[in-house]
Amino acid sequence: MSSATLTPPIHLPAIPPIIAPSVEEEVLEPGERAALLDRIRRLLKQQDAVLIAHYYTSADLQELAEDTGGCVADSLEMARFGHAHPARTLVVAGVRFMGETAKLLNPEKRVLMPDLHAECSLDLSCEPEAFSRFCDEHPERKVVVYSNTSARVKARADWVVTSGIAVRIVQHLHAQGDSLLWAPDRHLGAWVQSVTGADMLIWPGACVVHEAFRTQGLEALRAAHPEAAVLVHPESPAGVIAQADVVGSTTQLIQAVRNLPNPAFIVATDNGIFHKMRLAAPGKLLLEAPSAGTGATCKSCAHCPWMAMNGLRNLAQVLETGSNEIELDAELIPLARRPIQRMLDFAAAR
Ligand code: SF4
Repeated sequence: MSSATLTPPIHLPAIPPIIAPSVEEEVLEPGERAALLDRIRRLLKQQDAVLIAHYYTSADLQELAEDTGGCVADSLEMARFGHAHPARTLVVAGVRFMGETAKLLNPEKRVLMPDLHAECSLDLSCEPEAFSRFCDEHPERKVVVYSNTSARVKARADWVVTSGIAVRIVQHLHAQGDSLLWAPDRHLGAWVQSVTGADMLIWPGACVVHEAFRTQGLEALRAAHPEAAVLVHPESPAGVIAQADVVGSTTQLIQAVRNLPNPAFIVATDNGIFHKMRLAAPGKLLLEAPSAGTGATCKSCAHCPWMAMNGLRNLAQVLETGSNEIELDAELIPLARRPIQRMLDFAAAR
C-alpha cells in the first residue's frame, strides 16, 4: 500500500486528572431545617423566584422545589421548565453548567445558584481552548457536545444533546451522512456510537461518579438478586452498560422503576435519584450498583460531590443576598444558545 493512502493517526487531547472535592451532605437539626424551609419559601415569593432542582440533589431540595411550584428534573427538562416559567429569578440547584444553560435560554432573567463552585468532571475535562483546537483539527466533522459542558464549549458546537435525546440526534446526523466529533463523555459517546453505528471521534472525558461503577461487583450483585432489573445511566463504563436491562437518562430510569414489573432494581447512577424512585414505586427494593468506593477519584460514590454542595443554608443565603448570580458574556450567549435551541427544536418536532 502506498503511504499516500494511509490515514494519519488521530491524537486525542490529554486531560489533566480531575480531583473531586470531598464534600459532606448538609446535616440539619429539625428546628434549623424547619426555619430554613420557612425562610426560603418566603424569599422565593418576595424575589419572584422559582427553584429548579436536579434529581441528584437532596430530598429536602427536591421536595421544596415541588412544594413551591418549581420542578425536579434532568438537565433538559430543567432548561425547558425555566424557559417556560414566568418567574424573573431562576434558582438552579444543580451544577454550574445547568445554571449556565438556564441563563443561555433566559438571558433576561436573573439566574442564581446555591454554590458557583458546584462543577462537573465532564465540564472540567473539556477546557474550551483545547477543545476549540481539537475542532479546528477536524473541520470535516459536525461537533456534538453533551449538555455537561461550559457555555464556551457549547458555543463551538453544532449540536448540544442530553443523554435522553443523544441517540435520536446522532441517528439523525448519521442518516444525513455526517461524521461527528463528540465531547466530552467517552462512555456515553461509545454507547451512542454502538447503538447508532455513527462515525464518531470521541473526546476522552468521564464522569467521576459513573466511571466508578464496577463490572464484576455488578455481576455479583445480579447473581444475589436475580429478580432485580439493572438500570444504568450511559455515562457508566461499557462492562456495566452491557449488563443493563434499561440504559437511559435519569428520567427514563425513573420511568423504568415505575413501569417494569420487577420487585427490585439495581441502579447505576447517582443515588440522589433514589428519592424520586421511592416515590414512583413505593415498596420496591432499590439497590446501589457497586462502585470503586473511597479509593477511587470519586470520594463519595455513588453521589456527586459537586451536587452535594447544594443545601438549604446556601440556598437561603443566595436568595437573601442575591449573590452567586450566573453571568455570561453577552456576545457568547447567542453562540452557545444556538446548538441548544437546535436540540429543543428537534425534540419538539418529533
Ligand atoms: S454526576 Fe457526574 S456528570 Fe453528573 S454533575 Fe456530577 S460529575 Fe457531572
